[in-house]
Amino acid sequence: MKTLLKISLLFFTVALTAQNTYLHCGKLIDTKSGKVLSEKTVVVFGNKIVSVDDGYIKPKNSDDKVVDLKSKTVMPGLIDMHIHIEGETSPTRYIDGFTKNKADVAFVSAEIANRTLLSGFTTVRDLGGSGVNVALREAIAKGTVPGPRVFTAEKAIGTTGGHADPTNGMRKDLMGDPGPAEGVVNSAEDAKKAVRQRYKNGADLIKITATGGVLSVAKNGQNPQFTLEEIKAICDTAKDYGFHVAAHAHGDEGMQRAILGGVKTIEHGTLMSSETMELMKKHDVYLVPTISAGKFVTEKAKIPNYYPAVIVPKALDIGPKIQDMFGRAYKAGVGIAFGTDAGVFYHGDNGKEFGFMVEAGMSAMETIQSATTTNAMILKMENQLGQVKANYLADIIAVDADPTKDISTMENVSFVMKDGVIYKK
Ligand SMILES: [Zn+2]
Repeated sequence: MKTLLKISLLFFTVALTAQNTYLHCGKLIDTKSGKVLSEKTVVVFGNKIVSVDDGYIKPKNSDDKVVDLKSKTVMPGLIDMHIHIEGETSPTRYIDGFTKNKADVAFVSAEIANRTLLSGFTTVRDLGGSGVNVALREAIAKGTVPGPRVFTAEKAIGTTGGHADPTNGMRKDLMGDPGPAEGVVNSAEDAKKAVRQRYKNGADLIKITATGGVLSVAKNGQNPQFTLEEIKAICDTAKDYGFHVAAHAHGDEGMQRAILGGVKTIEHGTLMSSETMELMKKHDVYLVPTISAGKFVTEKAKIPNYYPAVIVPKALDIGPKIQDMFGRAYKAGVGIAFGTDAGVFYHGDNGKEFGFMVEAGMSAMETIQSATTTNAMILKMENQLGQVKANYLADIIAVDADPTKDISTMENVSFVMKDGVIYKK
């Protein structure tokens, strides 16, 4: 009884002295209504938002903390639906696979995670790596290393010679014959096994490469690479594990098969026809534009030897078409989920995508909503992420200007809080 009293007294003291954080926000973006509100106080306790009140409220307890964001525009932490957290573009990228150990990849990815977080992205969807991504997600969740909340596909699933075949371009004796365990499938049966293997390996969702891609060592960047039957098997199996499926696709035929097969997002979507845009709307599939990646590969392809020769014509052909397609898809009413493909370009530059989207015709507020409420909904986190609202997770960022007047301010996030912890101010 005595011990119980002691424990309850201790708990009571802790509860009384625990610190609340009061954020005095000059402007606050309500992502739900699409309005910019002024002079609000956001109270944070632990990893949650307690309340959002009018005016600048004074703290109740002497040890509560006040953060002055009166000159800033505050909004929920941003979500990028397409990054590769394990690595980054470099002319040595294709050799790295033969020289770097997983431990090397792990150290690099920890630095990338920190850089991503400090640029305002408090949640990311990682669309494919080697498995270090799963370990990194755990390390971040435990607080071992700073980084965004990670939802990962672990290893992307492709077909033999396809965009996610890890042995493309290798010497024949090194190629071997990778199968479902390595994420390479050639039948509906293989497809089921590859999804179940991802579940076993700790993935949160599934990524497939529905068509050829720009940066794989292969000739074609847009050919369909799965049968409809294989994609259906993947999506149906994924459903059993609560996974959604993201499909990389540049060509129109592969895109259509992916949509009909049951995927939730189309990544890139470069050569999307107006017929496919209608199909996207009908099946409630979202486009993840990755305009940043398209622009970056177009520039780098002009530098001799930056990419292997087989990649250059693909980059020059596909790269410049993404932004224009995005503009047409947006105007056609296709749902847009903010995503950049960071890793193909430098991590931390994710915020440039906002400007590219605005340039193509989307309003600044809609770009921010796509990076918050829309993405939270696709991740089934809409009751915890994407809004600055009571009982939501305290993922909150701020920029110096009002992004609805100057979208480039999204490239310079000056305050970052994730799970109630301030990482940048
Ligand atoms: Zn990608």
